Amino acid sequence: MQNTPPPMEYVCKEHSSAHDPSDVQLSEHFWLSELTKSGTAERLGIDNTPDIEDIESLQSLCIHILEPLRRRFGVIKITSGYRCPLLNEKVNGSRTSQHLKGQAVDIFISSNEVAMKYFRFIVENLDFDQVLLEIKGGRYTGKVHCLHVSYNNEDVNRRIAISDYKVK
Ligand SMILES: [Zn+2]
Repeated sequence: MQNTPPPMEYVCKEHSSAHDPSDVQLSEHFWLSELTKSGTAERLGIDNTPDIEDIESLQSLCIHILEPLRRRFGVIKITSGYRCPLLNEKVNGSRTSQHLKGQAVDIFISSNEVAMKYFRFIVENLDFDQVLLEIKGGRYTGKVHCLHVSYNNEDVNRRIAISDYKVK
């Protein structure tokens, strides 16, 4: 007897729901939509669609950084990935931000303790370009805002790690 073919629609175990047919799976646990979604873009009607090179960069980032983190710590939440130039401008991103090339993501951080675990894991185990633990407020009294991490798929990764990167 023949096995029944799997359903056409892929059901993602991570979200227990079907993905939009136009979505692209970049690695085992990460889909393009998670890395392009932006509340600001939606609110302002900005089309935050990456080009093929940006998508390739995002995929490298998933394979080299996000999947190892996901395997070690479980589900992680991306707050910002790719940003088109207009979106980057609206969120006051740097003009040379690696988010513009799909080489950087910001990861949601629930506590300073979690932040340090992620930070150490990346520094000790992975190849990365920059890992910045972004702190809002005073240098010693500030609260962790997010973990910015980048991977450069076009050049040597510089391994710049800053655990108290102040942002406004
Ligand atoms: Zn960032």
